[in-house]
Amino acid sequence: MIKRKRYIALGICVCGLLLLLGTRLTVANPLSMASPLPSLVRSSALSLQNTSPVALPTLSIAKPKSASKLSSKTAAKSPAKPLGNASLAQSLPPEQGDDVHRLGDTRCIERPDRPRGLTKQELAPLAFTLPLTRFRSTATTATTQESVVLAHPSNFGWRFLRDVSGQVLQNAPIVVLHETVGSYESAIALFTTPHDDEDEQVSYHVLIREDGKIVYTVPPTRRAYGAGDSVFVNSDRQEESVKTNPNYPPSVNNFAYHLSLVSPEDGYDSDAAGHSGYTRSQYESLAWLIAKTGISEDRITTHKLVDRSGSRRDPRSFNVPYFLERLRSYPSSKDIAIGCGF
Ligand SMILES: [Zn+2]
Repeated sequence: MIKRKRYIALGICVCGLLLLLGTRLTVANPLSMASPLPSLVRSSALSLQNTSPVALPTLSIAKPKSASKLSSKTAAKSPAKPLGNASLAQSLPPEQGDDVHRLGDTRCIERPDRPRGLTKQELAPLAFTLPLTRFRSTATTATTQESVVLAHPSNFGWRFLRDVSGQVLQNAPIVVLHETVGSYESAIALFTTPHDDEDEQVSYHVLIREDGKIVYTVPPTRRAYGAGDSVFVNSDRQEESVKTNPNYPPSVNNFAYHLSLVSPEDGYDSDAAGHSGYTRSQYESLAWLIAKTGISEDRITTHKLVDRSGSRRDPRSFNVPYFLERLRSYPSSKDIAIGCGF
């Protein structure tokens, strides 16, 4: 397909390709495939048995500034609060100023509207950005490791309190890990470009560059279009997925926080099984960031594990044991709120 070729040419693996394509491949349900790993059958959460260790590249850059001050503690196991909250089910205030996207509003929307095209005004290039505090509540100033490059709002949406059929949603947040399968620059170019075609709307919440720099692109209160046809199987073996658009399969996007590692250059070929992996700085920033969401390990997963299209394998060459070790070295907090009303 032309669109697919176009985006592969751009070097973006992005989960949103599923959305891009709108295809419904039924081949590979990773959870139903015969697997020697019982943990994968039980849950789509990350597991120490999930992948074999991968050697880390030697490139190593300093930890995020504030990370170096933190002491080692075990990650919290307490379940995160569900996104749905009755007190949030209020009507939104009138639009303010030129912010036709109401980016200043942090609440959820009650339920999806009938799909509609975006107006010319809504598709205009963004003339403003958001402060770092909209991405991490304790971030009064940016560190050298953190910055905001806001995706165009046509590439992300509201989080909803009910699905398309009106059913109340109670999903606690999950973290979904990705890789870009292309350069940082190509990913940012794609996310900041206005898209009126739903098939072309894609985004992650955060990109983590090779040197460990964290770039926030979609506020955690909003729904990044990171995965198309997808399901999260929780530790009770319940399948979690939300249909927010009648024209597309259900996905995890409504309760997901999508984080993407920038791929190494030898990983730009999406057909390759693996590559040289990610830097220690990337793992350090990823662990530091996820600890700030307070999301428990059993709700951290990968695009590959939630994908139901059979086409997603990212993040390839991901070292699960090393990542979990680093994650457990940071105290869990709620600095990054994956939900609404914050
Ligand atoms: Zn992905």
